[in-house]
Amino acid sequence: MDCIFCKIVKGEIPSRKLFENDRVLAFYDIQPAAPAHALVIPKKHIASMNEAEEEDRELLGELLLTAKKVAGELGIAESGYRLINNVGPDSGQIVFHIHIHVLGGEKLGGLNVKS
Ligand code: AMP
Ligand code: ZN
Repeated sequence: MDCIFCKIVKGEIPSRKLFENDRVLAFYDIQPAAPAHALVIPKKHIASMNEAEEEDRELLGELLLTAKKVAGELGIAESGYRLINNVGPDSGQIVFHIHIHVLGGEKLGGLNVKS
């Protein structure tokens, strides 16, 4: 499958890793939208929340807890951060392997609902 994040999981594309275990991986976003910007992904390929199933319940929980851990690693736990999960075309999702953005390191703008 031609999925860029699956390639990162397999080590076929390099990434700056922040955390890894058997199930999840966190790495720096290549095009940071804030001073601190990381992505948390499952190693299992799930295209988006639309494809997540009941059997993924624990994995989805682990993604959120990993995002919290990563925020701590990035030193933004206390100053605050935003977790974003884009789903589908209208959200601007460009990589169809589910991921949570961890954004912070500065005062973030309000939610940009309209482009
Ligand atoms: P989304 O719009 O939610 O699908 O966001 C995908 C994110 O993946 C974007 O913020 C990209 O900058 C990021 N991205 C794409 N390719 C890579 C890569 N090879 N390494 C790290 N981040 C990437
Ligand atoms: Zn994938």
